[in-house]
Amino acid sequence: MIHEIAPHKLDNEFKDITPKPTDYLIIFNGEQTLFKKAGDNYEIPRVSEFPQCECHYLISIDSDAYFLCNSNLPEIPEGYEFRGNRTFRTLESHLERLGGATSAHIAKWESLNKFCGKCGCLMMRGLKERSMICPSCKNTVYPKISPVVIVAVHNGNELLMARNLDNPDKTRMFLISGFVEIGESLEQAVKREVLEEAGVRVKNIKYFGSQPWPFSESLISGYTAELDGDPTIHMQEAELACATWVKREDIPEYDTSVSISSCLIENFRSGYTIKE
Ligand SMILES: [Zn+2]
Repeated sequence: MIHEIAPHKLDNEFKDITPKPTDYLIIFNGEQTLFKKAGDNYEIPRVSEFPQCECHYLISIDSDAYFLCNSNLPEIPEGYEFRGNRTFRTLESHLERLGGATSAHIAKWESLNKFCGKCGCLMMRGLKERSMICPSCKNTVYPKISPVVIVAVHNGNELLMARNLDNPDKTRMFLISGFVEIGESLEQAVKREVLEEAGVRVKNIKYFGSQPWPFSESLISGYTAELDGDPTIHMQEAELACATWVKREDIPEYDTSVSISSCLIENFRSGYTIKE
């Protein structure tokens, strides 16, 4: 999964340090991040490539730090382009995928908190911790992480698989997932999402693992569960392009290096069965 980088280590402690020329520079414009083209791939620019940018420290992985440009957008030379955060998933370096996407998560949070939600004044970046502080009313805002659940629903030798309407990958199927609503537990969210999206009920919900998912500013908790009762699927057409039971032997191999979704699918495909 994206956060599994041992023996390397992500350090997200708040610091006020100056960049080295070789450190990464995140230039964020609201929804997209600037990448440098490198053949068919993309790279994250380095601080030395935009010496005119003022920037502040975000995180580091080992000795490579990530800084966020906080001055006006620089003139963009040829060979660079703004792209959505999914591009981080395609980077060759596993460390850059995590470092870049986590940095973009913080960058988006900062961009959405320029003004105080309480009194409307311009917010300032905190000097002692990662926060945005209103100098007028002292309202303090911390980075937002939204909880998400994802579930592999087993029905004997079949797995409930689905694809969201907005998933750009039209060739593969994934699992039922969704944001946790206010006032519900993670297990209640699992039951509700499966019922809403596929029209079936589940029992025997078991925790599988978790992962940060900076692409949607989330923390994903993964579960396995068993079908409870009628297997007839009633798909939520407003959310899903398809939802169906797939036999274990018909599931293709999934790359488990990025998402917990693929890990849950591979877990089922490789023969795991839920025990009471
Ligand atoms: Zn305020």
